[in-house]
Amino acid sequence: MTRDLRPSALLLVALALAFALVGAACGSQSADSVAGSVVDSTDEPDPTTVVEPADEGAINSDGQASTPVDLFIDGALVDEIVTVDCTLSSGTATSCYQITVAGYPADSDVGPFCPTTTTDTADEVGIWFDGEQLYDLDGQFILDLPEIYGDDNWHLHDDGEVHVTDTPEAFDGAARPDVAEEYQNHCVEGQIAWLDGGEPITSTVQIPVTPIVGDSPSPVGAQIGVTLSGVTIDGPAPVDAILGAYTIAAFDDCGGHLNPVAGYHLHGATGCSEVGEEVDGETRAFGIALDGFAIHSPLAEADLAAAGLDECNGHTTDELGYHYHANSPELNAVLTCLVGESISTRRGR
Ligand SMILES: [Zn+2]
Ligand SMILES: [Zn+2]
Repeated sequence: MTRDLRPSALLLVALALAFALVGAACGSQSADSVAGSVVDSTDEPDPTTVVEPADEGAINSDGQASTPVDLFIDGALVDEIVTVDCTLSSGTATSCYQITVAGYPADSDVGPFCPTTTTDTADEVGIWFDGEQLYDLDGQFILDLPEIYGDDNWHLHDDGEVHVTDTPEAFDGAARPDVAEEYQNHCVEGQIAWLDGGEPITSTVQIPVTPIVGDSPSPVGAQIGVTLSGVTIDGPAPVDAILGAYTIAAFDDCGGHLNPVAGYHLHGATGCSEVGEEVDGETRAFGIALDGFAIHSPLAEADLAAAGLDECNGHTTDELGYHYHANSPELNAVLTCLVGESISTRRGR
């Protein structure tokens, strides 16, 4: 960690942060190891800034891209980003940005999700993807379910009226791996107002200030990263359990949905929350993975071959350095592995 010797004001800030962070620190980190320093996330230079977030594509002395925390959209974060001492999965001690995302997209609304009738059209509803196909969640999809999944037990509607989880109790009973019997054959959706306290669920992650490429890629865990709009990016939705209970855990057009534990979170990259410049043959960034590398939108089919993505869907370009491209949303896997080391911050489903 870079030590800045500007004295007293900085020290006070660091001390105040150390106290403030005691309650918020992740995992087993003890209070005295959380020596914070403020990173200004606005354009205004702040006298207490110690670590200047590098521009996207900035290459450090190891030839790696720096973690592009300057890309977050206004409103995506709760509190300022601070740097803390952290230990990566391999045991490497380094500096991490501690980032708390708002749990609600700063640049769009949440929903819509389920159709209410079997005549609803694509523009009134969200989407569904199951690892193979992406569907508009329109009325016709509801009617076609027995055929799509080859099972006559699907009956998500009565006389054209779609069974939707329309109370907090129904949402709690259906948005879980062991769906209560009475909520089988439901299109599942939730509202922010139904979460604990009626508020978005924030999520705090620690991401290395400088990504460190590990000896071998690591499979992604429950959480892959965060969007630049302030939402958690999760691993695959548990599609087998969802379909096994004759439910559809509807996504909105941005590929996100709610559950009572994680709040609003993303399972598929559909082009929302993109920032940065358009580069030929490229897509723009929409997230940051837990290892610190940017995640860009899926590449167009025509650009895939030339891109030469590695097994974790990443590649290095002159303009952008190393970055990932999300898989197509129908695959229900934004990424399957990370090349860099990270800290696992959350266990879950
Ligand atoms: Zn989910
Ligand atoms: Zn690229």
